[in-house]
Amino acid sequence: MTLDRSTIWPYEDGEPGEYYYSRYASPTVVEAERALGALDGGHALLYPSGSGATTSLVLGLLKPGDTIALAEGCYFGTGVTFEALARWGLRHVEFDQTQPPPEGVQLVWLEAPSNPFLTMPDLEAAAAHPAPVVVDSTAATPVHLRPLEHGADFVLHSATKYLAGHDDVLLGAVVCRDAETAAELRRFRTVTGIVAAPDPAWLLLRGLKTLELRVARQTETAALLAERLTAHPAVSTVRWAGLGGLLSFDVADAATARRVETSTRVIVNATSLGGVTSVMESRARWEGDRVPAGLLRLSVGLEDPETLWEDLARALGD
Ligand code: PLP
Repeated sequence: MTLDRSTIWPYEDGEPGEYYYSRYASPTVVEAERALGALDGGHALLYPSGSGATTSLVLGLLKPGDTIALAEGCYFGTGVTFEALARWGLRHVEFDQTQPPPEGVQLVWLEAPSNPFLTMPDLEAAAAHPAPVVVDSTAATPVHLRPLEHGADFVLHSATKYLAGHDDVLLGAVVCRDAETAAELRRFRTVTGIVAAPDPAWLLLRGLKTLELRVARQTETAALLAERLTAHPAVSTVRWAGLGGLLSFDVADAATARRVETSTRVIVNATSLGGVTSVMESRARWEGDRVPAGLLRLSVGLEDPETLWEDLARALGD
C-alpha cells in the first residue's frame, strides 16, 4: 500500500497512461476504492467528505424539479444539504423509512440505522419502488449491512466515521451497484472536481484493516451500555438498532443533558461518531426541536466497557 501524492504522471510514448492527472484518477484513491467496493459488493467512488459525496451524487443523478424522498430522523446535515440545493430546483420530502416510500419521487434516500433515531429502513419496500434507492450506511458499515444485496442502487458512507475510524480523516464514498452509472458519476466527479485526495484515501486503507474488529467490539459494548441505560432510572428512552456502536438516549431535559455530557471523564464531549474514542453530545444544540431536548447521542469507542459504564453512571448521578 503506497501513498502516491503526485498530481501528474509522465505520458507513455507521448500518450496519457492509466494515470496522468489526479483529478481524473490517482493510484492510492483507486486502491482505496477497490477495497471499499469489495466490502460493499459494488463500484466505489471517493469524495472529500460524506456531504461532498451526497452533493455529488444528487447533482450527478437528478435534474431541476426532481424530488428526493428522505428518511425522516436521518442525519440532520443531509436535509440541510438538500435545502441548500433547493434554489437549483431540487426538492425533498420526508417519510417514515420503516414504511414504503411515497409515489412520484425520483430518488429514495434511506439511512441504516438513522442518526440519531436509530431506525432501520424497510429495504424491501424501498427496492420495490421504481426510483433508485440510496442507503446511507455510515452507521451500519459493510460489517453489518451490504445494502446492494438488498436491492439498493447506491450506498453512501461518511468514511470520516467508522470506515476510517480514528477521527483524523474527512472522507466520503458512494458505492454503486451498476458499473456504467459508476462511470458516469466518475466523469461528473472529474469535471466538477469534487474528488478525494490521496492522503485521506491512504488513511481509509489503514482504517479498513481493523474495521471488522473495531465494529464488532463497538457493537458488543453498545449492546451492554444500551441494556444498562435502559434499566437506569434517570434515562427514559434508549435507542439502539441492535447493531453498530451508535446509540442515543433521553434524560429529563436540556439542562440535565448538558450536565451529563459535560460530566463524563472518559467519554469525550464532542460531535461525530465512529472513532476509536467514545464521544457523546446533546443533539439539540445542532438539531433544535427536531430531537427531544434531553437526547444524548453516544458513539461507543474501544475503551474498556466497564470503564465506559462507570463513566456514564457517574455522569448520570449515581
Ligand atoms: N451521513 C451520516 C449518517 C453522518 O453521520 C454524517 C456526518 O455526521 C454524514 C453523512 C456527513 O459526512 P461528513 O461529515 O463526512 O461530510
